[in-house]
Amino acid sequence: MAKRDYYEILGISKGASAAEIKKAYRKKAIEFHPDKNPDDKQAEANFKEAAEAYEVLSDDNKKARYDQYGHQAFENGGGFGGGGMNMDDIFSQFGDIFGGGFGGGFSGFGGGGGQRRVKGSNLRIRVKLTLEEIANGVEKKVKVKRKVQAPGTTYKTCSTCNGSGQVTRIANTILGRMQTSSPCNVCGGAGQTIDKKPSDADAQGLKVAEETVSIKIPAGVVDGMQLKVSGKGNEAPGNGISGDLIVVIEEETHEKLQREGDNLHYDLYVSFPEAVLGTSKEIDTVTGKVRIKVEAGVQSGKILRLRGKGIPSINGYGKGDLLVHVNVWTPKTLNKQQKDFFESMQDDDHFSPKPESSDKSFFEKVKDMFS
Ligand SMILES: [Zn+2]
Repeated sequence: MAKRDYYEILGISKGASAAEIKKAYRKKAIEFHPDKNPDDKQAEANFKEAAEAYEVLSDDNKKARYDQYGHQAFENGGGFGGGGMNMDDIFSQFGDIFGGGFGGGFSGFGGGGGQRRVKGSNLRIRVKLTLEEIANGVEKKVKVKRKVQAPGTTYKTCSTCNGSGQVTRIANTILGRMQTSSPCNVCGGAGQTIDKKPSDADAQGLKVAEETVSIKIPAGVVDGMQLKVSGKGNEAPGNGISGDLIVVIEEETHEKLQREGDNLHYDLYVSFPEAVLGTSKEIDTVTGKVRIKVEAGVQSGKILRLRGKGIPSINGYGKGDLLVHVNVWTPKTLNKQQKDFFESMQDDDHFSPKPESSDKSFFEKVKDMFS
């Protein structure tokens, strides 16, 4: 579906001033507001379309790009992607459009009509985890600075809307007298305003407090994954509900182990004599060190698979493996005696390569691994 021109959506000309753009958006937002058009999908689509147009045209930078390139300016991840904006985004970004009170800086809606359920904003933190912590699951305690209701803050029923969160107006239009309702400008739809607040609280009766939050991280998480701790974001004023704490997982690089999905890879180096004579080696795993046997006559490139020594699946089904890659270390320099020894073996048939099926090429082994 072709996107409509942003100016056309808001019903303004290209030369419109910032104030005109805002006014036009406010008009559209009120016209298509979900509270006024319950269960009307077309109105909701129009509402979102207007919000998107305003988001671009109210930002000097985005507006300049749009004026020059049109919708193409935002097609490569610069705009809204394919999904468009959701209602929470719209209310949190454009709270100011809907008036003061609790509206600015808070998002969320409690369904069509009636009182708006004010929600505190979400907080985001990054948590660094070692591979061992990821493999075993861990409980992390983090210090979070979150807005909480300042002690001593009291709320009262909004006198403008009598606590309903809505104001109803009778307007004379060409179609006759129409009753319209919109979110209360004074309380932002929450139905409550501040009665008393301590001097160190902000306009919403909140203040920043540091709190230690305990986060249970399940085994098998992946770098970049986001976990939600409900209710540990910023608190909302009055009887609103707290936002969430979004925890972004960051995986620390391990000195010895490389992760690939749920499998782990380990590069094992053995000396030339160890490869010839066989040896045992201690290697790191995510559950501690283990000793593994390296058979005499091992070939460089051999992969030893330790089943279940990888990372548990985040879905709870089984565990990955630890794949130990054997690398035979060939000396780069030799002394006279060593050189004489290898030279004397050069024509010895016993040293000439005779690969068997168990000495498959690397590529065949890789094929095996994923089959
Ligand atoms: Zn009110």
